Amino acid sequence: MSSDFPKTKIGIIGGSGFYSLFDNAEEFEMDTPYGKPSDKISIGEIAGRSVVFLPRHGKGHCLSPTSIPYRANLWALKQLGVERIIAPTATGSLQPHIKPGDFVICDQFVDRTKHREDSFFHGPKVAHISCADPFCEHLREAAILSCRKLSITAHEKGTAVVIEGPRFSSRAESNMYQRYGFDVIGMTQYPESVLARELEMCYVNISLVTDYDAGLLGQEGDKNKAVDATSVIEVFNKNISHLKDLISEMIKNLPQERSCVCKDILKSAMM
Ligand SMILES: [Zn+2]
Repeated sequence: MSSDFPKTKIGIIGGSGFYSLFDNAEEFEMDTPYGKPSDKISIGEIAGRSVVFLPRHGKGHCLSPTSIPYRANLWALKQLGVERIIAPTATGSLQPHIKPGDFVICDQFVDRTKHREDSFFHGPKVAHISCADPFCEHLREAAILSCRKLSITAHEKGTAVVIEGPRFSSRAESNMYQRYGFDVIGMTQYPESVLARELEMCYVNISLVTDYDAGLLGQEGDKNKAVDATSVIEVFNKNISHLKDLISEMIKNLPQERSCVCKDILKSAMM
């Protein structure tokens, strides 16, 4: 790791429709033992704090959820000194009371992905991290309080089912997830969240609800129109200014030092 790279403690990983955060930001390329991250990393300032930004899918959305180099992305942020990650994602709603335009501060996920490298610890060093509560409770609280202050409609907990993609669900799949009681459906909360955790970084997912998933159509919204990528991006774009306000409010209120369990997660993970 070159000492030329700036050090910063806060990282933002931007999702679909969220490809830049700063105007005229300084950008730099990184490389890691896991290959190159999704794109150049930019650095800027929010609320007087240094922040790095990485677009998860690359600028212009050129990486599918399966081909995102999750390990390289998280490794690069760790090398920059990042301790806390705010990670917005576009998601579909699986429940009628969670409406397009709402935010969900997820507290759980269910992994339904199939083709992803999802650990730094496949050997020779092996670690089994606790994942009972996979997201940082302190960052979740910061997001919840900030949403309340900004009057953003946010569900303060929720389970995201993470599918492989890039296709959306069939109606039967979507009905099944709905009946299981999952709240939102996305493609990137896993393994990004657990890789952050393995590197002892705090991670919060901000799910931006863009539409009702296929199984809810016919009950809510346009009866004839199943989820499609264009409508997802339209709603996401409308949400971007709310999202930027939320990120800035969160950062303004974050204490300098962490006191949550994330920073010591590996202590109890080694056999
Ligand atoms: Zn934490």
